[in-house]
Amino acid sequence: MPHARIESLFEDVLRRNAGEPEFHQAAREVFESLGQVIEKHPQYADASILERLCEPERQIIFRVPWVDDSGHARINRGFRVEFNSALGPYKGGLRFHPSVTLGTVKFLGFEQIFKNALTGLPIGGGKGGSDFDPKGKSELEIMRFCQSFMTELYRHLGEYTDVPAGDIGVGGREIGYLFGQYKRITNRYESGVLTGKGVGWGGSRARTEATGYGAVFFAEQMLATRGESFDGKKVLVSGSGNVALYAIEKVHQLGGTVVACSDSTGVVYDRDGLDFELLQQVKEVERGRLSVYAERRGAASEYRAGGSIWSIADETRIDVALPSATQNELDEADAQVLVKSGVVAVAEGANMPSTPGAVRVFSQGNVLFGPGKAANAGGVATSALEMQQNASRDSWSFEYTEERLAEIMRNIHESCAATAEEYGEPGNYVLGANVSGFTRVADAMLALGVI
Ligand code: GLU
Repeated sequence: MPHARIESLFEDVLRRNAGEPEFHQAAREVFESLGQVIEKHPQYADASILERLCEPERQIIFRVPWVDDSGHARINRGFRVEFNSALGPYKGGLRFHPSVTLGTVKFLGFEQIFKNALTGLPIGGGKGGSDFDPKGKSELEIMRFCQSFMTELYRHLGEYTDVPAGDIGVGGREIGYLFGQYKRITNRYESGVLTGKGVGWGGSRARTEATGYGAVFFAEQMLATRGESFDGKKVLVSGSGNVALYAIEKVHQLGGTVVACSDSTGVVYDRDGLDFELLQQVKEVERGRLSVYAERRGAASEYRAGGSIWSIADETRIDVALPSATQNELDEADAQVLVKSGVVAVAEGANMPSTPGAVRVFSQGNVLFGPGKAANAGGVATSALEMQQNASRDSWSFEYTEERLAEIMRNIHESCAATAEEYGEPGNYVLGANVSGFTRVADAMLALGVI
């Protein structure tokens, strides 16, 4: 971090946000890209844009009481960090996972500001969630928790104010319960207050598929800069949640072969390619574990309990990796294995899955690397398309929505590539995404005055 002002600002971020390592990591990564921008445009420093960007506009923390099936009162903590609304209402998902802290939500909210700016759509940045663990909970417990969560959060939301969606642990089912409770409390059918809704009640077609498809579209664009495509490529996709699932489907549609995916307890390795339909049935319909998939798939599949997906690249050549599970899941040593294997492109389907050490290894190894805030922006972009459909009381076809998504991903790729070029580092998508996203938000903040 060569720029002295940025250096001292980062010291402030560390001091003012103690004990939030993921937020520090996300802020450092953006700051490292901004030296030249601050030098070229002193007006950003004069207006303290960076300082203001690091301080959320509002942080809400609340108690979420609920009653479990045995009649015991249970308590979780709820969060919503409304980070920046220079470009539009706060927009970003809710994560329900036992690891969620204020620091997690701040890292995700911070990333979301730049990601949402990159989509070119009118959405600000926010994120929320809870340390609630949906695993092992009954349907009714999930419903009671969601209702209690919304009973507190609803007062901060609105289609022009703050529009949550899903993230890890929050899918269509949870959005349904959250929307139901919002509707009940406010007595308004305000479709645009949440995205990721079911297609039958205000949701957008292709929203479920959008994050995974979008990451593959982004990787496709990166590959095209080297005259390559997914056709015939061997791919690893970590995770097996919503993002991973639809990344797998799209890679297969484009002629590539995904040979492995993972969950928190193990890895499945299918040398001839994963069976998408079976995976979808087990993970999405039955909410089962990957071990169940492997059992049903029989001899075509190898299940490795507790194994690391990236070590598969040690055994066989891997061309593309799409880390789509969670933050910091791919470290420096994993990146070295991938580079040695000959990986050409890595696109992040999850938020910040690669550690800073891993990102360095990819860049030294001349690997095309698409950071999450660019590569996984397709989910939130399609959420903004859902908001458009809700505002006009319209409902678009799958084909039209997917084409809009593909076009948005092409534009994001183009703007990252062009910005990296402009700043003298062609092919550096991290720099391109950070600078391009930052500039859009910073210019709006300048125009809106000190607020
Ligand atoms: N949670 C997703 C993300 O990380 C989607 C957010 C949204 O659709 O608002 O971008």
